[in-house]
Amino acid sequence: MAVKNIVHDESEQIFSRACRALPGGVSSPVRAFRAVGGTPPVIARAAGAEIEDVDGNRYLDFVCSWGPLILGHAHQAVVEAVTRAVRRGSSFGAPCEDEVALAEKVIDFYPAAEQVRFVSSGTEATMSAIRLARGVTGRDLIVKFSGCYHGHADHLLVAAGSGLATFGQPSSAGVPEAFAGLTRVLPLDDLPRLEALFAEEGARIAAVIIEPVPANNGLLLPREGYLEALRRITEEHGALLIFDEVISGFRVAPGGLCELSGVMPDLATFGKVIGGGLPVGAFGGSREIMRQLAPEGDVYQAGTLSGNPVAMAAGLAVLTHLQHEDAWRRLDELGAALEERLLPVLKNAPFPVALARIGSIFWMALNTNDPPRAAEAVAPDAGDLYRPLFHSLLNRGVNLAPSAFEVGFISLAHREEHFDRLAETLDAAWAEHPAR
Ligand SMILES: *Cc1c(COP(=O)(O)O)cnc(C)c1O
Repeated sequence: MAVKNIVHDESEQIFSRACRALPGGVSSPVRAFRAVGGTPPVIARAAGAEIEDVDGNRYLDFVCSWGPLILGHAHQAVVEAVTRAVRRGSSFGAPCEDEVALAEKVIDFYPAAEQVRFVSSGTEATMSAIRLARGVTGRDLIVKFSGCYHGHADHLLVAAGSGLATFGQPSSAGVPEAFAGLTRVLPLDDLPRLEALFAEEGARIAAVIIEPVPANNGLLLPREGYLEALRRITEEHGALLIFDEVISGFRVAPGGLCELSGVMPDLATFGKVIGGGLPVGAFGGSREIMRQLAPEGDVYQAGTLSGNPVAMAAGLAVLTHLQHEDAWRRLDELGAALEERLLPVLKNAPFPVALARIGSIFWMALNTNDPPRAAEAVAPDAGDLYRPLFHSLLNRGVNLAPSAFEVGFISLAHREEHFDRLAETLDAAWAEHPAR
């Protein structure tokens, strides 16, 4: 039984203006709904676990702005901190106290960070960390894994070549072959390939960058001991290990995967949660490495709005709130509650669905019995199966990401009753799924 399509007149109107003024109508491609089809709702406001579009439709939100909103939308602590800060001035281009306080908080939370530098996005964080790794080691090559996303810097928009080639190919027009040629791409969960690459080119590799829990191609939970092995191999060859914790940092634990795994990277990158919904990124590591950045060292890196006082106030409000509420235990409980509600309902799907979860990050892997550990193991028709599912849910007021390969996020504003609603809505969606 199909529900009546909700009305989107105002969204349609604004989005058609958007398509004239902005390429694809958006400021970041996935928002355009190309993977699922249809017109994205234009959002007017949000509070707690709900967003509301310009037509007044409300949605229970599991996107949470793609990860930053760990306290939920428009949390009072953040709204007040930002309001107070902006009254004192929106940017100084000079040191401010909240910048120092947020850096101290990061250092306090994250075991491998003795110093941090702030930037304005996750992309800038990974791009700068890689420049620093190259500067420190005097080497050019970097290694990344297929299925990991590290932002849109040139040398990271690179995919594996065909077959067993590790030689990087640009995954975007506009990335020179020569840049991509300095990146090696390997599948996740394949240590023999990594060992072989290091045996061959180890002396030229500046760094290995990895999402220690990859969450940009579904949620690809690493095998026990995998990160330890990466640490050992990189160390043996004098290459740096970079944990890209832009999603996992401050979300799965105060110290991210560094804390959970006990593996110490040389550098770590942050974004999303660290800015509380404002544009903030950061990277950090040992003092010995970080002091090679300008002005102390000769690796140049800078930013007009880096350490912006309003953004710093937002990040500080979030991390302080998380710490005082012992939020990580609560987020884990919420994640477990979601899992408990969803598991029986996933059995009713017209195809196998595996649930992957770490703390408050979850992903439904469609058409597979076991959660994949590598991008290559994701079912090739997952995207096709997801499309009707996504629209059934959206039409019933539940907002999941508009792509089969994006994870869901739980915030502290979510409650068990929201998971009941997700479960009921999923059951209704299975009933009308074309694969039934
Ligand atoms: C989102 C993300 C980035 C890029 O961050 P932006 O703020 O979008 O530039 C980098 N790495 C990971 C792991 C991410 O999830």
